[in-house]
Amino acid sequence: MSFTVHGIGVSGGIAIGHAHLVSHAKLEVAHYVLPPHQVAEESARFDDAIRRVRAELEELRDNVPATAPPEFCAFINLHLMILGDSTLSAVPRQIIETEHCNAEWALKVQMDALLAQFDEIDDGYMRERKGDVIQVVERVMRALSGQPGYIPPPPSADSEHNLILIARDLSPADVVQFKQHQFASFITDLGGTTSHTAVVARSLAIPSIVALHSARKLIRENELVIVDGTQGVVMVDPDQQVLAEYQLRQHQFELERRKLRRLRDTRAATLDGVVVDLQANIELPRDVVQARENGATGIGLFRSEFLFLNRDGLPDEDEQFEAYRKVAADMDGMPVTIRTYDLGADKPANGGEPCATNPALGLRAIRLCLTEPQRFITQLRAMLRASHYGKINILIPMLATAAEADQALALIRRARQGLDEEGVPYDRGVKVGGMIEVPAAALALGMFVRKLDFLSIGTNDLIQYTLAIDRTDDTVAHLYDPLHPAILSLIADIIRTADRAGVPIALCGEMAGDVSLTRLLLAFGLRQYSMHAAHLLDVKQVILKSNLTQLKPLARRMLRTTDREKLHALLDKLNA
Ligand code: PEP
Ligand code: MG
Repeated sequence: MSFTVHGIGVSGGIAIGHAHLVSHAKLEVAHYVLPPHQVAEESARFDDAIRRVRAELEELRDNVPATAPPEFCAFINLHLMILGDSTLSAVPRQIIETEHCNAEWALKVQMDALLAQFDEIDDGYMRERKGDVIQVVERVMRALSGQPGYIPPPPSADSEHNLILIARDLSPADVVQFKQHQFASFITDLGGTTSHTAVVARSLAIPSIVALHSARKLIRENELVIVDGTQGVVMVDPDQQVLAEYQLRQHQFELERRKLRRLRDTRAATLDGVVVDLQANIELPRDVVQARENGATGIGLFRSEFLFLNRDGLPDEDEQFEAYRKVAADMDGMPVTIRTYDLGADKPANGGEPCATNPALGLRAIRLCLTEPQRFITQLRAMLRASHYGKINILIPMLATAAEADQALALIRRARQGLDEEGVPYDRGVKVGGMIEVPAAALALGMFVRKLDFLSIGTNDLIQYTLAIDRTDDTVAHLYDPLHPAILSLIADIIRTADRAGVPIALCGEMAGDVSLTRLLLAFGLRQYSMHAAHLLDVKQVILKSNLTQLKPLARRMLRTTDREKLHALLDKLNA
């Protein structure tokens, strides 16, 4: 039976393919049916994972360091007991054998059943053991996949480009792993438009939709699905006529993209000769390929924290240095702005879970860096060393106070001093900038322009914190409004103040890649945009067709307007 589900499109385009269900974000697990002859092998794989985890835990217990707290041994023993219980070590095998499903799925199904039982128990102590069950299951999942948080590939990697991934929720760490795959699209029931999950989705340049609420429940494995990422609509089991219509639209969309590619080497300048710098946002060093293919004139934001996700330990100085050096070298002398790690909130390190009540207001980004100076200095050293191989700028996220900027600058000086003492070369002209994404920093910009070499506006967080909208929460996603008068006046003021102080100012939030806002930002005085590579050519096309002199009066009127409808009408006029 055909039906449609509506959500929020976060990455445009049309995908047509077969549904592939993955389970809840906590343990994103693929579900696939095995041919009968592979069932015994799958059961053996499961048994082997249990055996390996048991050996791992026993080794931990037998080598408890003298300094470990006394409850550590009891904790390991409890995990061994949970692992040994037949509900975890035997029932999933029965599920594999009766349902012919993959081991991860069987384990997940059984874990969900166990957790539901725990919820019914009245005893507080027993209820708290839920977390232990999850931890043990996660260990087994890791043993099964060989990598923490890894989503096992579907049976045949060849067919990936036909798969529409459907999940209740995905973490940014999950989505960044999709870069190794070629899925046609992914859609989720939860998520906001500027959540890091959506941000990474855009960089994949595949249609994606969030906030569908019930897609995971309504759509079945392998069903034919059309995803219209531009309109935010999913069509399930479409009839022949609808399918033909969307195949045509998909073809037209691809033709448009191909035509746009011709602009790659064209300089981005308005009709009246104003040159604009269009740079790319990246998460991982390999994203540079896409940035260059789309004509980026630099990397305006390297979200370095993605190097810290999907792994057990932290990357050491050499590993980080190599990643930064590679990006700098691959960009061939063009500027590369590396943001110091913005961990916390929806990007917890080491695959952990956010534990604060309001993690976005908690120990995140520079706040976290300053609580662990040694870890921060390790990253700063790696960045400085890499600056010897290209043009690197250092960007500090989430500044709110002058003291944070001072402390960050002091630690950069310390890192430089250490390298000087060791005789390690680095670029002495490395520039240090700050992200303006906390309203306090935007309103008291004067204290930052005096200290920093450049600024970059992070509109994703600036909007989240100004309008009090959790960017990851789909229930308030409709309130996310870049055209809110408060946001427009903040952005215009930041650009004006920075210009007056002679401090270069960029914008690297998702607004930079939204073509409906390109002209408005241009008229506000923005000359450096940084966005996911997939949007670079669309934005360039708009700039090439713009006349700045004509835009300015309209933009000024928008700044004086508070009525929502009038604002939208003026924006339409600006874009006409
Ligand atoms: C922003 O907040 O706009 C930004 C670019 O940083 P992130 O999306 O990584 O928080
Ligand atoms: Mg931010």
